[in-house]
Amino acid sequence: MASLLTSAATRATRRTLLAAPSGCSFAPRRPVPELPDIVVYIEALESRVLGRALEKIRSADVFVLRTAVPPVDSLVGRKVGELRRLGKRIAFRFAGDLWLVVHLMVAGRLQWSGTAENPSARNALAHLAFPTGTLTLTEAGTKHRASLHLVEGEAALRAHDPGGIEVLPGGARQFAAALTAENHTLKRALTDPRLFSGIGNAYSDEILHAARLSPVALTQKLNAGEIARLHAAACEQLAVWTNRLRAEAAGRFPSGVTAFRPEMAVHGRFGKPCPACGAIVQRIRYADNEVNYCPRCQTGGRVLADRSLSRLLKEDWPRAIGDRNA
Ligand SMILES: [Zn+2]
Repeated sequence: MASLLTSAATRATRRTLLAAPSGCSFAPRRPVPELPDIVVYIEALESRVLGRALEKIRSADVFVLRTAVPPVDSLVGRKVGELRRLGKRIAFRFAGDLWLVVHLMVAGRLQWSGTAENPSARNALAHLAFPTGTLTLTEAGTKHRASLHLVEGEAALRAHDPGGIEVLPGGARQFAAALTAENHTLKRALTDPRLFSGIGNAYSDEILHAARLSPVALTQKLNAGEIARLHAAACEQLAVWTNRLRAEAAGRFPSGVTAFRPEMAVHGRFGKPCPACGAIVQRIRYADNEVNYCPRCQTGGRVLADRSLSRLLKEDWPRAIGDRNA
């Protein structure tokens, strides 16, 4: 225990030293794992731990486990019967209807090692050892947002589901109903985990670009054709990216969510040419977030990056950033 505490203290010091100054506008924005990333994580886990019994679970961080009952040690010896995505969370069902819910939030990542320990994992929060290898939950940074919850039964599990609809199997009518339930900017609506499951900052930018719609258009002002275009773009982008990440992993455990994906049309491409039309990709920063868009494809040539639109997005963003990553 003493050695664990010492290593945690050393790690915390290292994190503090490496952390960017708070409020630094040039701090790199860490990509949040979204639906395609989580789906590919789950597929990699299914082939490694489904039907396998947990041999050991070890927390390497005092903050990571947010529940006390049932005790996490009660998982040892139980087999994984199912893996399920809940929004941006991954839930493991262990025998006895015990659910371990992993929430990666912004900086949490999963690593797999084919050995009993994973000594090379940096910033480890927890290790789960199976006969096939060790799964390690890591989190860079100092914010302690990634978490584990252990709950018993489907009813308790549901409390961890933000409730957004699944775009791909949901169908056009359900999509339109969720989209127009309240009047918000498209950017906010798409990234609201209560409305849509698993869509965050990156894929919402890509979906809006593919749909040729402005991020600040209001949901209740869209016509039926625009809603249909948005639905088609959402289905297409989520499917295309899931397939792309799956092909990249090629059976290996996904090595993480990278900051820059050259195949993205607008997300993370501020100042670069739009691949569809060549106009320069623009950016609006607001709260702890940003929108990237093409003014020619999406906003009728208007550059939105002015203060009033930043304010509009900020005002359309009343909840904490933590909720946004749910
Ligand atoms: Zn364009």
